[in-house]
Amino acid sequence: MASPPERRVPRKEVATTVQLDVRPSLLLLRGFVHRCPACGGRHVFRRWFQMEERCPTCTFLFERVEGHWIGSLGLNTTVVFGVMLVVLMAGTLAFYPDPPYGALLTAEVVIAVVGPLLFFPSSRMMWTAVDLLMRPLGPGEIDPRFVKVDPERDRMG
Ligand SMILES: [Zn+2]
Repeated sequence: MASPPERRVPRKEVATTVQLDVRPSLLLLRGFVHRCPACGGRHVFRRWFQMEERCPTCTFLFERVEGHWIGSLGLNTTVVFGVMLVVLMAGTLAFYPDPPYGALLTAEVVIAVVGPLLFFPSSRMMWTAVDLLMRPLGPGEIDPRFVKVDPERDRMG
């Protein structure tokens, strides 16, 4: 049996926050305000529901794997349910023992319908930020000028 080809020294992996020299909270905040989590660049969305495939600033491809946006759907749903829960709890506690059930129900329905639409761009970019936090950038994923630390590139010799 032939021996496998000699393997190169594995690429030393560093976290995305190290690669980009940013804090995790900044990645998430950039996403929340509809900016590219990787570089903070603007104009990621052409319209509210229509986004660029790649960041116009750093060329980062947002859909890193097929099915990437399923995560943003999950995030959107979780956040909207969370807001609904908070409103329900606050409304009930504020008017205890006689909460205005009709008004609360109306508020919940409005949040359930409008919330996911309002949160759509944020959920997409925030999920991309989460993905970046879980999986460091690979070679060539963004314009190298935005990468502050790359062990492969920065290796001496
Ligand atoms: Zn970018």
